[in-house]
Amino acid sequence: MIFHALLIKYAEIAIKGKNRYIFEDALVSQIKRSLKAVSGDFKVEKESGRIYVHCPEEYDYDETIAALTKVFGIVEICPVMIFDDNGIGAMGDDVISYMQQVHPGYSGTFKIFTRRAKKSFPKTSMEVSSEVGGRILEAMPDASVDVHEPELQIHIEIRERIYVYSLSIKGPGGMPSGTGGRAMLLLSGGIDSPVAGYLMAKRGVVLDAVYFHAPPYTSERAKQKVIDLARIVSEYSGPIRLHVVNFTDIQLYIYEKCPHDELTIIMRRYMMRIAEHFAEKCHDLGLVTGESIGQVASQTMRSLAATNDVCTMPVYRPVIAFDKQEIVEIARKIKTFDTSILPYEDCCTIFVAKHPVTQPQIKTMRISEKKLSEKIDELMQKALETTEVIEIG
Ligand code: ATP
Ligand code: MG
Repeated sequence: MIFHALLIKYAEIAIKGKNRYIFEDALVSQIKRSLKAVSGDFKVEKESGRIYVHCPEEYDYDETIAALTKVFGIVEICPVMIFDDNGIGAMGDDVISYMQQVHPGYSGTFKIFTRRAKKSFPKTSMEVSSEVGGRILEAMPDASVDVHEPELQIHIEIRERIYVYSLSIKGPGGMPSGTGGRAMLLLSGGIDSPVAGYLMAKRGVVLDAVYFHAPPYTSERAKQKVIDLARIVSEYSGPIRLHVVNFTDIQLYIYEKCPHDELTIIMRRYMMRIAEHFAEKCHDLGLVTGESIGQVASQTMRSLAATNDVCTMPVYRPVIAFDKQEIVEIARKIKTFDTSILPYEDCCTIFVAKHPVTQPQIKTMRISEKKLSEKIDELMQKALETTEVIEIG
């Protein structure tokens, strides 16, 4: 491959004052993690306010870029060619060689930006830009200089060696994983919760996850689908500890004892309680769901309040104000959509009432739950004890 290194640009994190080093180190370690999946010996280095990935002689460029475009905190990736410093004449030859390989027959406008990190270089940045620019004009007669609105920005960085780049690939933005705390995602097999997890991870939050499984009403395939979704999200978020809770007995007991139109809300209140139990164990600072106002009966503001009533931790709902179509767009972009729409049954839909309450009162829910007092503690205990923990990613 013709590029020797990749310059990693990051914006938001660079302005964090003295926290800057924490963020940069987190970004470096996430870049290293993502490149483990790509074959070749990559060296990631922090060099005077920049991060460079130095590439091995042989590597798969597309795979490398694909891995890096999943690392939160990266705003831009610039593929760089590096030349030895043999003075200004050789530099002109090298930049022409760069142009011929990367932009053969270039006929648009350009401007050269020179940054002189090595102060002993005998020419100023201005002199370098103008001399090298002149050489490009000679070598590429159809190209022209435009210093105000150039179509192409050619960057020359003078360090111990000479770094040349002009291409830029968009990164995912956000904050590096681990810089934003840790949270427990309620991950179903649907479209919304994987997107909710992705969005939290984008802000640097490390994820744990919990899935409520209801065998034999929900199949092994439905569980595998959730594992697959967690794996896709983990490509962005880093490893996810997934808890698979056997929820069948609790659901059947609620079904037996409580008014059927209240089932979904009461069930969701138990989901939150169990999620919070594991969240505490994992030292999480909050719960995350894929709820969005008004999407279904259990997601009206009153229903959300009734669900929230049992939580002591903050509940983050990153897609709360998104339309379904907006969530679907993100699901497609992050490649969870095709898995999410596989038609396997969900534990919520199996026991769902024909006319669920849309305006549940918290007080009424608390009263209904009293009907569960005989066995619910025992069933909860059993659900917690039989929970399977799967490390993903
Ligand atoms: P999703 O597409 O994320 O499944 P949904 O539109 O189907 O969402 P609901 O079924 O009402 O909505 O669920 C709302 C939220 O509750 C989900 O986004 C998810 O966070 C959580 N949730 C629902 N069912 C489960 C489950 N079986 N296991 C874990 N979390 C669940
Ligand atoms: Mg669902």
